[in-house]
Amino acid sequence: MTESWGRFKSFEGMTFKKLDAKFTKKVSELIGGQDLTACFQCAKCSGGCPVSDKVNIQIHEVMRMLLFGLEEVLETDMIWLCTTCYTCQERCPQGIDITDILFGLKNMAYRKGIAPPGYVAAAQGLYNNGRLYEPTDWEREDLELDDVPEFDINDVKKLLDKTRLLKLQEEE
Ligand code: SF4
Ligand code: SF4
Repeated sequence: MTESWGRFKSFEGMTFKKLDAKFTKKVSELIGGQDLTACFQCAKCSGGCPVSDKVNIQIHEVMRMLLFGLEEVLETDMIWLCTTCYTCQERCPQGIDITDILFGLKNMAYRKGIAPPGYVAAAQGLYNNGRLYEPTDWEREDLELDDVPEFDINDVKKLLDKTRLLKLQEEE
């Protein structure tokens, strides 16, 4: 078991409160109503996933949890460690939009306040400062780049407001 983020780290000894068909339907609606029962657990998605050795719960296991309507899936590390490389989606023989599901699950988890604190702080920092990292002129000089360009933070905020970056928690 890796020491990554997420309360749900293993299936061992787990009992689940309920199998929620409504949750399965809600997730299916994220990808235009695709039938999640099409997943036959071949694990080809996990076979090509670049973070498969970093996560406790593999992407094909996420798919199985979704099929069973297990909302605990929102507490798995796979959702946040996914690099959104789309390899799983490209490899799935059943044509399931797996990566797009993960985008939706991230939003669902965030709305419920289940997100790594570092991600939340990064989102706030991006909104406040318009960048995640403050580059210095001397670093850019070393790379033979021009000085850090000026920008209007209000333009950045306007842009981020349109993405609803900080609003997700207020919606359901
Ligand atoms: S590759 Fe597709 S069919 Fe195979 S386990 Fe993953 S989601 Fe299911
Ligand atoms: S999109 Fe995410 S889950 Fe799919 S292969 Fe890439 S890292 Fe793994």
